[in-house]
Amino acid sequence: MSRDITLLHPDVQHIIPNFLEECKKQGLIVKITDTLRSKNEQDNLYAQGRTKPGKIVTWVKYPYSNHNWGMAFDICRNDGKGAYNDNDGWFKKVGKIGKKFGLDWGGDWKNTPDKPHFELTKYGNTNTLIKKYTLPENFKKTWINEEKKYMFVNRNYSYNGKIKCLNVINEKGENYVKIRDLAELLNKNIKYDNETKITILDDIIENVKVLVNNKEHIIKSVKINDFNFMNTRELANVLGYETGYNETLQKIYFTLKNSIIHKLNFIKGR
Ligand SMILES: [Zn+2]
Repeated sequence: MSRDITLLHPDVQHIIPNFLEECKKQGLIVKITDTLRSKNEQDNLYAQGRTKPGKIVTWVKYPYSNHNWGMAFDICRNDGKGAYNDNDGWFKKVGKIGKKFGLDWGGDWKNTPDKPHFELTKYGNTNTLIKKYTLPENFKKTWINEEKKYMFVNRNYSYNGKIKCLNVINEKGENYVKIRDLAELLNKNIKYDNETKITILDDIIENVKVLVNNKEHIIKSVKINDFNFMNTRELANVLGYETGYNETLQKIYFTLKNSIIHKLNFIKGR
């Protein structure tokens, strides 16, 4: 059985990295266990628990599984707490995320729920597909569309300790990444200047509220990897310091602001 997602319909391939990313964001570590299933594989699986030893794991013969049509995949948990341990409702949480991305979740099936199973039925269920295409081979021919001219692959990119799985085009050994994905990875704002036709990647400058002696101040900051890098001058100012660069010493200096010194003197004087 294959775990290769590139054997799936391009629409499913596009969903998977985003789905995995969202799961990870919610602390759910998901592993893909099964993608496309050939006739041989489906026949063998169907035999299991019937003519061959083992537990029954599928209710359908070829080509009545969406796995045969490249429209389904199975998952398990990969957090070391047991691949199919569902004591904490783990699969339902993942199911909810899958549904957000337009997938059907096998856990919703009334008669034979299949919690690890996800499928995309935007082209119909297997009965519809069989009626229209008879066999998966014929359906696969329709996959060769504009997008299928290119090979989509998943690549892991890392920036500042943050790892992101991006769905990229691999063309003659070179990877082509969506600028939006890259900007997100690098924590940049993306803008497009219609006049110059230039795509601009800017640092994400956020305003962060800080409370100093119960007084609220707004400080410009850049957020990278969940750390706020605050504008030194503004922060120093709020804390009652002045800051600057000493050319001779080649050092950034902090000094107490005059007003504060006066205040201190005044307090001392009392
Ligand atoms: Zn399945």
